[in-house]
Amino acid sequence: MKKYQEVIQRCKDTGQRFWAGDNISGVLQPGEKEQLIEEATVAFESVLDTLVIDRETDPNSHGTARRLAKMYINELMWGRYNDMPNATAFPNDIEEGYKGMLVVRSEIQSMCSHHHQPVKGVAYIGIIAGETLIGLSKYTRIAQWCARRGTLQEELANDIAREIMKATGSQNLGVYIQATHGCVENRGVLAHSSLTQTTVLEGSFFNEPSTKKEFFDNIKLQQEYASK
Ligand SMILES: [Zn+2]
Repeated sequence: MKKYQEVIQRCKDTGQRFWAGDNISGVLQPGEKEQLIEEATVAFESVLDTLVIDRETDPNSHGTARRLAKMYINELMWGRYNDMPNATAFPNDIEEGYKGMLVVRSEIQSMCSHHHQPVKGVAYIGIIAGETLIGLSKYTRIAQWCARRGTLQEELANDIAREIMKATGSQNLGVYIQATHGCVENRGVLAHSSLTQTTVLEGSFFNEPSTKKEFFDNIKLQQEYASK
């Protein structure tokens, strides 16, 4: 049995869903990622052969199968095969601590699961802290961990919201993503200036008009700053 077949079987046995946007690090054992790269290399070789690309004498296509296999598992989809970045939580004193809104701008690179084309953009994560805080860079690390998979932008916004809520314990959060999609720019409608926006609002971000307004006002300020 091939390693990938063994891993698929393990997913099925443990009820671990293995869609393109799912993290499967929990069912992987040490060394198995490297074995999957070996098997994916052989599979990509046959894809290139099927596309009638000369892997033997074309110097640029020699080694492409291995580059693709490594790129998928270690880069484009690392968020599927690796555990969530460690986000140490610090206590936030409800009386004395920070009660305001925090908005973090995180650059994300993702890939659409329909066409495996790049999705590039920015996620704005707004939160009203509960009893715990995480380091500022952790918001971006978690967002990237969710993004580096095969996703749909709608799904990605939900994933980021869910994981940040889990890491912080806060129920009051907003995630707004603006991204361009390779599958819209490079194929199909070939629309080069198209931008897709998705928003997830939870708790007071959904219920309180003033919180929602503050979140989007902050995003505008962030965008002005970023465009300078
Ligand atoms: Zn697509």
